[in-house]
Amino acid sequence: MRITAIRATPVAVPYRYDEVWAYGRRTGQVSVLVEVDTDEGLTGLAEAAAYPSADIVLASLRTVEPLVTGADPRRIEALIHRIDLVGTWHHVRATSPAIAAVEAACWDLLGQACGEPLVNLFGGTFHDRVPFLYYVAKERPEEVAQEGARAAELGFSTCYLKVGSDDPDRDVARVAALRTGAGDAMCLRVDANEAWSTGACVQLVRRLREYRLEFVEQPVSGRNLPEMARVRERIGVPLLANEASWTRQDQLAVIRHGSADALSVDHQMDGGLLNLKRSAGLCEAAGLPVVKHSLGELGVALAASLHVLAATPNFRYANQAYGALLADDVTAGFGGPAENYSAGGLAAPTGPGLGIELDRDKVERYARLYEERGAEFAFHAPGVPTSAPALPKR
Ligand SMILES: [Mg+2]
Repeated sequence: MRITAIRATPVAVPYRYDEVWAYGRRTGQVSVLVEVDTDEGLTGLAEAAAYPSADIVLASLRTVEPLVTGADPRRIEALIHRIDLVGTWHHVRATSPAIAAVEAACWDLLGQACGEPLVNLFGGTFHDRVPFLYYVAKERPEEVAQEGARAAELGFSTCYLKVGSDDPDRDVARVAALRTGAGDAMCLRVDANEAWSTGACVQLVRRLREYRLEFVEQPVSGRNLPEMARVRERIGVPLLANEASWTRQDQLAVIRHGSADALSVDHQMDGGLLNLKRSAGLCEAAGLPVVKHSLGELGVALAASLHVLAATPNFRYANQAYGALLADDVTAGFGGPAENYSAGGLAAPTGPGLGIELDRDKVERYARLYEERGAEFAFHAPGVPTSAPALPKR
């Protein structure tokens, strides 16, 4: 089997409401659907987050295409080494989502070729149902409480809330509201996206402890690992690394410094599904759990990572997904809005390869939306953020 072409389709899918974090806002999500054609009639499907932009992903795919055309998509290690070393991409992090999509599409092709779901190629099912978190992205405390209640009604076990705003009292009020709305049984995870200084972090997390946090995610800079380790020792809440742990090399450094109690990993940020499995193995050897980070994904990328998550023991906590925000999806009956999850979880698809299909009508609809209004969905959407970002904030 030989690769003959890479096709890319950017799509824009709206959120139910705006996502807001420590230094940004977006009204929906842009992803690039990637289809890798072969001379045997099989097509591999994957998805790249538009990170940092759809244009970067599209340009990366155009540049990668000649490196993989004519290659056997089943020789995944050789193909990725060719992209990284011959193509000189190995040190260029911004291109990772595009390369990861090509890699994932090759896994889909391999699974189709041998008639097995990817979960069986990554070790077989360990978790029958993989838990995902419910992302509460509302701003006002009363709305946060309502979303927390909705998460509980839908059966989710973990809620995730961004903190690190310009007003620490508001952060505390929002976490308190989430505990009230979601109830005592809900795990609460907060993410400051590096927004706090050490002093602000220690003071604030101590105030938040009464709400029983599962993790505080990347509360301070991920670029000073010894300081992050000192923060971890002082806050009394398990610390989850994220911005500190994008790549396997980053993860190794976090482990060596003792900077986190658990690590976020993301196949789109480190070259693909095989590296996601490797990341989990690295952390397992260190005795640490991992959680899957998401840059914002539709059902295609969600399904790809889900196969690895289901086959890997140390994905023990709820993983990131955008079901709480997405108003729709481009897949036929998989992923998408939170109502489509089963008690906050998903089982790996059972069909060959990725095991899901695109809904072509929806792809067409959301490709048109990208063409007409794609700029409104970007990280740098006009008009936001209204103030210049500054980290740390306090
Ligand atoms: Mg994060």
